[in-house]
Amino acid sequence: MDFALTEEQEALKLMVHDFMKKECSSEYMQEKEEKEEFPEELWQKMAQTGLLGAPIPEQYGGSGGDIITMAIILEELARVFPDMSFAYIVNICFGSKSLEYFGTDEQKEKYLPLLCEGKLKFAMAMTEPNGGTDVLGALKTRATLEGDHFIVNGTKMFITGAHIADHIMTIVKTNPNAPKKSGGISLLLIDRKSPGVETIPIKKLGFKSVQTCEVVFDNVSVPKENILGEMDKGWYHLLDTLNNERIDVAAQCIGIAQGAFDLALEYAKQREAFGKPIGQYQAIQHYLAIMSTEIELARLMNFKAAWLQSNKKPCGVESTMAKYYASKVAFEVASQGMQILGGYGFAMEYDMQRFFRDSKLLTVAPISNEMALNFIGQNLGLPKSY
Ligand SMILES: Cc1cc2nc3c(=O)[nH]c(=O)nc-3n(C[C@H](O)[C@H](O)[C@H](O)COP(=O)(O)OP(=O)(O)OC[C@H]3O[C@@H](n4cnc5c(N)ncnc54)[C@H](O)[C@@H]3O)c2cc1C
Repeated sequence: MDFALTEEQEALKLMVHDFMKKECSSEYMQEKEEKEEFPEELWQKMAQTGLLGAPIPEQYGGSGGDIITMAIILEELARVFPDMSFAYIVNICFGSKSLEYFGTDEQKEKYLPLLCEGKLKFAMAMTEPNGGTDVLGALKTRATLEGDHFIVNGTKMFITGAHIADHIMTIVKTNPNAPKKSGGISLLLIDRKSPGVETIPIKKLGFKSVQTCEVVFDNVSVPKENILGEMDKGWYHLLDTLNNERIDVAAQCIGIAQGAFDLALEYAKQREAFGKPIGQYQAIQHYLAIMSTEIELARLMNFKAAWLQSNKKPCGVESTMAKYYASKVAFEVASQGMQILGGYGFAMEYDMQRFFRDSKLLTVAPISNEMALNFIGQNLGLPKSY
C-alpha cells in the first residue's frame, strides 16, 4: 500500500494551487459572479498552462493524465474558485472523456485538440424538466432520422454552460419503441448556433459565473455524422463514464471543503474575542479538528476509488460512496466555516459564503445523495426500492 502522491502529482497539485491563488483574487471572483459572466480569460490561461489538456491523450494535444490527475486538478480548482471546477467537469471530464470513449478517430481529431487549446467548449444535456433522477422516465427529447440529418425536438433543463458551448452533447430518444427504457437512446453533438436552439439562463444560488440554462430544441437539424457512439446505445455508453463522474465530483467537493477549511483556520488564528484569538477556544479548535478529519477521510475514500479506476478494477460502489461522503463533508465543512467566521461569514465580500452556496448543489447533482444511497443499498443485496 502506498498512500503518497508521486513527485509529479505533488508538483501538479502545487502548480494548480499557485496558479489559482495568483489568478483568482476575491474581487475577481466576486465580479464574475455578480455579472454572471464566464471567466473566459482565466479559462484561456488554464489552456495555456496545459490544464485543459492534462487528462486528454497525448496524440490529441494533451498530456495523457489519468483519473488521479483529474482529481488533483479538480480539487485545487475548487479549493479557490469552485466555478472553474464546474466548467472543467462539464468540458473536460464529460466532454473530452465522452469523445475519447465513444468518438470516432475523426471526431477525436476534430475536437480534442481544440478542447485542449481552449478554443472549443461543450455542454452536457441530459436532464429534462420532468426529472433528473429518473432521467430515463423523463426523457422526451426526440431525434428523428430524415435522410442524412436528425431532426431534434424537446427541452433540456439545468444545462451548465449551454449558452457559451460550441456543441451541446445531448441525450435524445432515437427509438421510442425500444422495449427497454434504457434502449433507443443516442448521444448527439448539437451545434449550439444551429437554427432552432435556444439557451435560457436560470438564476441560481451558486456557481454563478458558469451559468446553467434551459435549452429548447425546436426542429433542429443535426448532421447524421454528429452522433457520438452507436445509434440507440447511448445510455450504455454513458454508463461507462459514471465512475469517472463520481470521482471527479467527489474531488470537487473535497476542494470546496479544503478551501472553506483554509479560510476558517486562517480566520481562527487572527480574529480575536475576549482578548485572545478565537482559535484558542476549545470549541473552535474542535470544529477545525473535525473539519480536517472529515476532509482527510473523504480524500482517502476518493483516492481509493480513483486508484481502483486507474488500475481498471471495479469501483462503482467505492466511487458512489466517495461522491456521497465528499458532498456531505463539503456542505458540513462550509457550514462550520460560516460559523467560525461569525457575522463575516454572511458578508459577500468574504469568500466563505461562496463555498457554502456552491457545496449545496453537490448533494443533489449530478447524482442526488438519495440516489447514491439507493445504489449503495442495492449493492448490499437489498431489493431495488424504486
Ligand atoms: C446548478 C445545476 C447544474 C446542473 N447542470 C447539469 C448539466 O450540466 N447537465 C445535466 O444534464 N443536468 C444538470 N443538472 C441537473 C441535475 O443533474 C439534476 O438537478 C439532478 O439530477 C436532480 O434532478 P431533479 O432536479 O430533477 O430532481 P428530482 O429528480 O425531481 O428529485 C427531487 C428529489 O427527490 C429525490 N428522489 C427522486 N427519486 C428518488 C428515489 N427513487 N429514491 C429516493 N429519493 C429520490 C431526489 O434525490 C431529490 O432529493 C444541474 C442541476 C443544477 C441545479
